[in-house]
Amino acid sequence: MMQEGNQKDFFTLGLYVHVPFCSSTCDFCAFYQERPSKKKIESYFLGLKKELAGLILDRPLDTVFIGGGTPGLLKADELDLLCGLILDHGLREGVEWTIELAPNEVTVEKLKVLKKNGVNRLSLGVQTFDSQLMNALGRKHGPEKVFKAYDLIRNMNFESVNLDLIFGIPHQSLSLWESDMQQAVELAPHHLSTYCLTFEEDTAMYYRLAKGELSIDPEREAEFYERAWAYLPEKGYTQYEVSNYALEGYACKHNLNTWKMNEWIGIGPSASSQYQNKRWKNPSNLEKWIIGVDAGFSQSDYEEFKRLSNTDLAEDAVLFGLRMNQGINLNAIGERFQISNKYFDDLSHFFEMLSNEGLANYSNDMISLTSEGRIRADAIATEIPVQEEHRA
Ligand code: SF4
Repeated sequence: MMQEGNQKDFFTLGLYVHVPFCSSTCDFCAFYQERPSKKKIESYFLGLKKELAGLILDRPLDTVFIGGGTPGLLKADELDLLCGLILDHGLREGVEWTIELAPNEVTVEKLKVLKKNGVNRLSLGVQTFDSQLMNALGRKHGPEKVFKAYDLIRNMNFESVNLDLIFGIPHQSLSLWESDMQQAVELAPHHLSTYCLTFEEDTAMYYRLAKGELSIDPEREAEFYERAWAYLPEKGYTQYEVSNYALEGYACKHNLNTWKMNEWIGIGPSASSQYQNKRWKNPSNLEKWIIGVDAGFSQSDYEEFKRLSNTDLAEDAVLFGLRMNQGINLNAIGERFQISNKYFDDLSHFFEMLSNEGLANYSNDMISLTSEGRIRADAIATEIPVQEEHRA
């Protein structure tokens, strides 16, 4: 069995920095975000400095991800400051360093600052190239902004560029979805993320759904998924997770680190961490977060806090691992998290059953979902056996 101390040698470590500001709220968005003001941004940076200064890590960072909110809403000098704070912590050579940008906020000045500091992966929130669908999402940019921002980014020669697309938008036909994918592929990014629109509570879209102005059609959603799973690999983008595709060598290491249940630290309001067998979430509120940072967070200051047993980690490694096309190696998970023989057998029987139903491929301890299984991934997730101590 792998000992706890040795595990660190192969765990990668990620840093996530949450920038919680958005100038307006997209109609589908349920994320915590705030309207920016000079005072709020100043307070945010004071909090960031303190939170990052108090961070003591046991090894260099393998990945950094600046997300939001809208990180691109920060000015060039603020981005420079943010990058400087991150650079004060050890970054491993070859670090993957991503920032999310919305097309409206991309400028040459900001890109130069990011490049100078070592950011090497840009993730551009396209969502759709169709103006009407863009309006339906409550987004403020049109396709011409996307093309302009993309040109600026590519001219700066960042190592990797991702485009985010959304499907399942009300009134989006399959041919419009194909057209979005085709236009994205023509831009030749290194990576594509494709998300199914969800109707989260307390969003403008949810209220329109509740009023009967919009409807959900799960079968239509499945068709959108399947169209992407067929189309993008044909164009050279290998699918490596339910929603993610990449040219060879460009899978997102930061996300893989999370799905493999390694370790990550989240900085900023609402950011989550998993480190040294604990998982916690910072308050989703700028003021509460600053109070916590100033006082030094105690468990009760966090929005969520949990000590993680090997059991917790093993269950999540199975759950998230199945979202990846490569699937999971049951023996490796068993060894890494020292799961009981009884639980190993329960999992093994469950996956044999899925295999018999055509929902999973199960051979040589490797288990992955078939296309049919991936369509039903959420339902399967609720059926995965849990260990004895977690049964209700
Ligand atoms: S930009 Fe992102 S975080 Fe901000 S409102 Fe839109 S979807 Fe939400």
